[in-house]
Amino acid sequence: MECIFCRIVAGTLPATPVLENEHVMAFRDVNPQAPVHILVVPRRHVVSVAALVPGDAALSAALLLAAAEVARREGLEDAGYRVVTNIGDDGGQSVDHLHLHVLGGRSLGWPPG
Ligand code: AMP
Repeated sequence: MECIFCRIVAGTLPATPVLENEHVMAFRDVNPQAPVHILVVPRRHVVSVAALVPGDAALSAALLLAAAEVARREGLEDAGYRVVTNIGDDGGQSVDHLHLHVLGGRSLGWPPG
């Protein structure tokens, strides 16, 4: 299994899990860009948002709901936070397994660099 996030989901690559359910897993980013930086990934391998199909509606909702739940658990709700997903080369995607970044714990600024 080549995909590192598939390996994390399978438990063969260590990670620090934050939330798990039928559809998704959330774990801490190894190279955090903010005091809280968590990745929410589908258990099933999906390359990116661009690869989602109408049959993935439940999975897509589960990803967003998990991002919001992670933020609540991390105490980010009052101050706010960012949910972002990178797609392809220009989007800055480095791992080809769909993931939402949940970032918070400091003022993040806009637009991003
Ligand atoms: P992206 O550039 O949007 O594809 O984001 C990939 C993210 O995965 C980066 O923020 C990396 O720091 C993170 N990452 C890479 N390998 C691991 C890993 N083994 N465990 C946790 N996060 C990882």
